[in-house]
Amino acid sequence: MSVVRVDPFQPEQEIIKRAAEIIRRGGLVAFPTETVYGLGANALDEVAVRRIFTAKGRPSYNPLIVHVGEVEEAQQLVRSWPESAEQLAQHFWPGPLTLVLPKRPEIPDLVSAGLPTVAVRMPSHPVALALLRAAAVPIAAPSANRFSEVSPTTAGHVEKSLGDRVDLILDGGPTMLGIESTVIDLSGPQPILLRPGLISTEDLAPLIGLPELPARQPSETAPRPSPGMLDRHYAPRAELRLFAPDRRKEAASLAARAVEEGQIVGALLLSALDAPIQHAIPMPHDPSAYARLLYAALHSLDDLGCHLILVEEVPATPAWAGIRDRLQRAAR
Ligand code: AMP
Ligand code: MG
Repeated sequence: MSVVRVDPFQPEQEIIKRAAEIIRRGGLVAFPTETVYGLGANALDEVAVRRIFTAKGRPSYNPLIVHVGEVEEAQQLVRSWPESAEQLAQHFWPGPLTLVLPKRPEIPDLVSAGLPTVAVRMPSHPVALALLRAAAVPIAAPSANRFSEVSPTTAGHVEKSLGDRVDLILDGGPTMLGIESTVIDLSGPQPILLRPGLISTEDLAPLIGLPELPARQPSETAPRPSPGMLDRHYAPRAELRLFAPDRRKEAASLAARAVEEGQIVGALLLSALDAPIQHAIPMPHDPSAYARLLYAALHSLDDLGCHLILVEEVPATPAWAGIRDRLQRAAR
């Protein structure tokens, strides 16, 4: 395995060529996208895709997102391209929005975990786009971390989690957005939000002519299994506890007790908490800025050996929905 630095704005041709060659030969390349680092393999090569599952320790019922370098490439992977897909792709691609559509048979069942649909996305990160275009194949890429861990937003996070299970890590610096893409299912009679992200339902609904966008109910017995929907996901090693802003007293005494017992306590806070917390990280009040910092903050609290991480709940508004979702999953 090697880690190679690459210019995030103008990726060096030779480096991209080398990475593309690895993908075309069935290898694994970790690369930056604007959301998180991805662990990529040729989506049309079943043996290569299997290596992703093995490297991550990811269960095979968990489908992967297929990344493309052009909108036309996505259209060739699916059996239908409804007007809603056209509108959303025109508006948000390249960018952090994943569309789920009926899949063509060329896509190995392993990619879609046996589902009749495939998730496709055109990322906007220059390194990801350059790699996709040089490889000239669609690239299946989940986040470049072991299954259920916090997603990587730096090459260092990838190296720590996957080490030499990857053939090459392209280090393009920290990712710009910091949480995974919004996922919307367009394969059924009506669009369904499968995973919230920084593109919110408020952004999406008007473009597909809906007053609002239904989210998949957690109680629904997974007719559409999707990795981001797994209960414990995006979790740090430490125990993560969420507290409502009006429960600061309880949170402070929880911290005090833990510290008394010799635990190392961290916190992600939107406002001051009067407690003997060793590693309190003040978080931004803007959702994009919060998302950019979130995973790096959790990785660093893990590295500091925290046993407990207290996290102040974020607002229950559409703009924060992606962040709320990741925090709730990490807290289970
Ligand atoms: P990640 O671990 O970031 O690659 O997450 C993959 C995401 O893709 C999940 O959250 C799912 O919502 C989604 N996904 C991938 N393929 C499908 C599919 N065929 N049907 C529904 N969701 C899918
Ligand atoms: Mg993941």
